[in-house]
Amino acid sequence: MPMDKDSIARILNDKGATHPCHRCGSVQFAVADGYSALTMQDDFKKGLVLGGKAMPVAVVICKQCGAVTTHALAALGINPKDEL
Ligand SMILES: [Zn+2]
Repeated sequence: MPMDKDSIARILNDKGATHPCHRCGSVQFAVADGYSALTMQDDFKKGLVLGGKAMPVAVVICKQCGAVTTHALAALGINPKDEL
């Protein structure tokens, strides 16, 4: 599955992720180039560990207020390793 912006927008639309912005109600969004990753932690007692596990996510930005929403790529059927 390709990871270009149009494909991500189409997948989100197909999955019904079409609600207005949770902050301002706008319906104008942009999909950011590339992908990001949320750092995952196993144990709060160890403090913040960087460079460990991460969840790759697509980033969607509200064009009106800039609110940022992330979507797990795995749930969208996208594996960033396939893009290498
Ligand atoms: Zn907004």
